[in-house]
Amino acid sequence: MAPVATDDAAHSESAYTPKHIEDKLFIDGEFVPSVSGKKFDIYNPTTEKLAASVYEAGGEDVDLAVKAAKEAFPAWSALSAAERTGYLNKLADAIERNADELAYLEAITMGKPYVDDFSIKFSVQNLRYFAGKAIDVAGDSSLNSTGFVTLSLRQPFGVCGAITPWNVPLLMLVNKLGPALATGNTLVVKSSEKSPLSSLAVGRLAQEIGLPRGVLNILSGFGRPCGEAIAKHMDIRKISFTGSVIAGRAIKKAAAESNLKNVTLELGGKSPLIIFDDADIARAVPAAAFSILVNSGQSCVATSRVYVHEAIATQFLDAMKTAMVELLPAANPLLPNTGRGPQVDKAQFERVMSFLDYARENNISMPVGGGRQGTTGYFVEPTIIANPPEDSRVMKEEIFGPVLCVNTFTDEAEVLKRANDTEFGLYASVFTKDISRALRVVKALEAGSVGVNCSSPSMAVDMPFGGWKQSGDGRELSRHCTDYWTELKSVFIAL
Ligand code: NAD
Repeated sequence: MAPVATDDAAHSESAYTPKHIEDKLFIDGEFVPSVSGKKFDIYNPTTEKLAASVYEAGGEDVDLAVKAAKEAFPAWSALSAAERTGYLNKLADAIERNADELAYLEAITMGKPYVDDFSIKFSVQNLRYFAGKAIDVAGDSSLNSTGFVTLSLRQPFGVCGAITPWNVPLLMLVNKLGPALATGNTLVVKSSEKSPLSSLAVGRLAQEIGLPRGVLNILSGFGRPCGEAIAKHMDIRKISFTGSVIAGRAIKKAAAESNLKNVTLELGGKSPLIIFDDADIARAVPAAAFSILVNSGQSCVATSRVYVHEAIATQFLDAMKTAMVELLPAANPLLPNTGRGPQVDKAQFERVMSFLDYARENNISMPVGGGRQGTTGYFVEPTIIANPPEDSRVMKEEIFGPVLCVNTFTDEAEVLKRANDTEFGLYASVFTKDISRALRVVKALEAGSVGVNCSSPSMAVDMPFGGWKQSGDGRELSRHCTDYWTELKSVFIAL
């Protein structure tokens, strides 16, 4: 496999050099150090060198942020919807103007390729969509009760919490702050300890566009104590979380044990792709390879289990071997044309390697990859694991790396059973030219999103996104997005 270009010279070759990297917490419209004064380090996964040190929020900082959000709520929720739309559109414009800085910050913290960063483009697009949603929050009315006009109203919760993951930091932040603020809530966000810099930059942009103080508060910190303090806070009435199943469960428990706050969860996946013998292989191969390679496999919707019909298995596997190596070549994310960066950090790199070791120890074949790529940076070779047993660790757990499991099948009913034999249910895909079979399979697959003759990350801002089973609870995006950020009230008016 080709060596990886990871030298420091790449920094000077990037189009952007930061003037200042924000390291403080964004509370009540100001950047402030944490109460404890403690900081934590973030390492660049490409160079393995220190990227930044930022202040670490604890429980007292959460209290300050909640206080600010509580004070800001009455005025923010009393604005007209059009005024809130205006602020969110200004923030989207500011993100677009500062795309270079945001892409740079994501490249040096989590290794996301800098050029043409899809997550920045979608962040801008999604925020504009959410901005428009502010003026589209309505309830129902009815004359069905004799002597009454009845109404339902959708109203904001008040102070809300959001906890985001490291893999798509800016987009995950936008998908929460957009509908939360559009509906009149105020927000306390905790970004991931692995990639907090782009979220802090959004705090600065909020300041620049004149977002009222306290409406958006952004904390950097760890799951414990910061995330836990948000999940347990008695003044937070709703929390939206994206991350792992383990942390999602802890948050639901903390919510239950405190004030039973409303919880929505966007969690992990182990997404299957079924390729029937009539499939267009020339389309299925790049779709399968892109899905598992993009963002270095660190995608909740990554297609990580392929089931290919036995009649075309050899042809598919041969083409996949080439596609996995050639489609998104690895290099420093700051260099132009880099397709794939490293894994986010040493811990995540070692976790992915442990799955490859598991395959080796259990004599499961890896016809492509199977090891580290290069010597500096946390790069993993694109890997195919062939015919792993259904109950093996590589088939059951989310690997979160460029590692694809490929199995064969012969019968539709049998493959559907295998595809659905997972506690996850985020995304699933099918390739076939038979429309009836496609629709049968779509209906049978247990997943929040299903691709037909395409695979993840195909999605759309106006389509609901979320998981079945342990992949989540609630939906983001689409016309339903604001439902999850509002309480319903029924009003009975006697005539
Ligand atoms: P993670 O669960 O380790 O961390 C996510 C966030 O939760 C971080 O901010 C972390 O500090 C915080 N956290 C951890 N423990 C906590 C606790 N006990 N209480 C409160 N907060 C806590 O997940 P990650 O490694 O950052 O992200 C990867 C995971 O996220 C994968 O499982 C991936 O599939 C999932 N993900 C899902 C979606 C989706 O939309 N469904 C999108 C992106 C990522």
